Amino acid sequence: MITQLEWLKEIDGHLWLVEDERENMKLSYRVKEVIHAEQSPFQHVMIVDTYDFGPTLVLDGVVQTTSRDGHIYNEMITHIPLLTHPHPKRVLIIGGGDCGAAREVCKYPQVEQIDMVEIDELVVKVSKQYLTDVSGNLSDPRVNFIYEDGTSFIKNRQETYDVVIVDSSDPIGPAEQLFSYEFYRDVHRALQTDGVMVCQSQSPIFHMNILKQTYERIGQLFPVVHVYQAVVPTYPGGLWSFTLGSKTYRPEQLDAKWDKQAKYVNQGILQGCFQLPESVRQALEK
Ligand code: SAM
Repeated sequence: MITQLEWLKEIDGHLWLVEDERENMKLSYRVKEVIHAEQSPFQHVMIVDTYDFGPTLVLDGVVQTTSRDGHIYNEMITHIPLLTHPHPKRVLIIGGGDCGAAREVCKYPQVEQIDMVEIDELVVKVSKQYLTDVSGNLSDPRVNFIYEDGTSFIKNRQETYDVVIVDSSDPIGPAEQLFSYEFYRDVHRALQTDGVMVCQSQSPIFHMNILKQTYERIGQLFPVVHVYQAVVPTYPGGLWSFTLGSKTYRPEQLDAKWDKQAKYVNQGILQGCFQLPESVRQALEK
């Protein structure tokens, strides 16, 4: 059954996960063990233990997060918006089934409620069970797990949240609508009058069209829009982008005293992450 999966291949007597990234690019990881593989109503969900990245979450053959580098993405998608907002109390995460983002949000004692709207309950279940380096087997009582499509959940919600984090998979399949203008408009409506949102906006190396489109769409809705970046080794191109929209507060004034336990973010990263490579800066300005 397992070796029949198109993204698991036997090469030279070893098992490899082969991610079909682009027409001319495949990323491969040597697999120690397939820990769990199951088809949900939405996607194929798999946890594999890889030699270099440890237990790894794979959806429809695409690596989502790994035990080795998942913290980079999860720290960056949470701490930047949470520190941009001076008093975040109500936080919404859309997607984020590996629980890594929610785990970071739980580091803020002033946050009272975290709604996590994930379309696929199976992703949460296997991440809590087998991906504990990322999920921390999250059990904070402030987190409400809501299993629903994020686009329908957010519709018609008015000024409910201080911070919205869109932690989606790539813009294909169930996540496609999470990159649309209509969705960002609904996110804008769901935010308080001083609310902040962030989304992952793909690779500046390989998906500049998506990053630019996201920047423009969020910029049409929010007076403050900024792109920031981090390096995530298992994401195609390595360099990864996040786009932040804010109704009032400006992240470049981020002078928060960094006091959290983290492996990637520190005081310097909070400021430096907004410095973009010249080609990216120029492409966004055009
Ligand atoms: N860090 C990852 C990345 O950039 O590839 C993404 C992490 S997280 C695993 C993405 C989650 O978004 C998945 O668990 C997926 O099930 C969820 N998702 C996709 N479309 C969704 C939708 N329309 N509503 C809610 N969750 C969605």
